[in-house]
Amino acid sequence: MSTKIVYSGGIGINIDGKWVLLDPIKMPSFKPDIIIVSHAHRDHYNIRVLNAFPNVPLILSNETYSLIARSNKLRSEDIIKTEESYMEVNSISLEFFDANHILGSRQILINGEIVYTGDICLEKRIIFKPPEILKAEILIIEATYGNPLYIFPERKILYRQLLKKVIKDYFDRGKAVVYARSPGVAQELIKLFSKLRVSIYAHRTVYAHTQIYTENGCEITQYKIIDSSSEEGIYIYPIWMGKNDIGNGIFVTGWAAVEKDERFIPLSSHSGLNMLLAYVNTSNPQKIYTVYGYARNFSAILKQQGYDAESLW
Ligand SMILES: [Zn+2]
Repeated sequence: MSTKIVYSGGIGINIDGKWVLLDPIKMPSFKPDIIIVSHAHRDHYNIRVLNAFPNVPLILSNETYSLIARSNKLRSEDIIKTEESYMEVNSISLEFFDANHILGSRQILINGEIVYTGDICLEKRIIFKPPEILKAEILIIEATYGNPLYIFPERKILYRQLLKKVIKDYFDRGKAVVYARSPGVAQELIKLFSKLRVSIYAHRTVYAHTQIYTENGCEITQYKIIDSSSEEGIYIYPIWMGKNDIGNGIFVTGWAAVEKDERFIPLSSHSGLNMLLAYVNTSNPQKIYTVYGYARNFSAILKQQGYDAESLW
């Protein structure tokens, strides 16, 4: 099997002349034979590219399809929603595994030896199960936090810190305002806060995403949409809405690891550097490609440890 891996609009894997295109955000320089979207975050798909190749199979999980189709007009031809974990398309074998990042996020094993992690969270969370670490010959791994600045405290410690902050704001002001990425950490937080037995109000986007979670079997209850009748409670907004609320809101994101302010909590749906290294060590690949975020830092760290690593990013 001859294999070539490049970054062109998305991750391109050429296997014996056929191109697999993963998570395209721009038009690739080649014509793909298969397109796969690992999950429904906007930095992992571009609707124009997905619709530009109508006869090329587009593969995504059912849940990813629901999240993307909520706000986009996705083509209807040649879409394969992966209810099953194994399939063969254009003589290429594909196996899908949970990634514990957001609803529907998957890792992909191609021809039994190439693994693409997509965005991945190795930790145990209150939502979803920890993912399997896949053995790979060639590993393509995300590196959003592939930097020593981003080694996160244990999740149960972060849960405790966050709950303490939220309870304090609620009792002091009658309202706690929390900003987190949606879909993703926002839904994890709704589930976490539901233990507190106070009203939970979600911004309409967070609310719509949470509904898709519950429709797909994720047990999240007790949340309402924010409207004019909303009263005392915990309010959850998408993280991008928080920039004018610093000093008041509570910000929950991995990027918070470098902030000194205690209103920033580094709880992430990605893995920190130590977890990324744990993945690589267990997977034990011959060749590693890093992608996204701190891809260059992470590949340098891997090289120091004796791995054959290079950044695609
Ligand atoms: Zn993501």
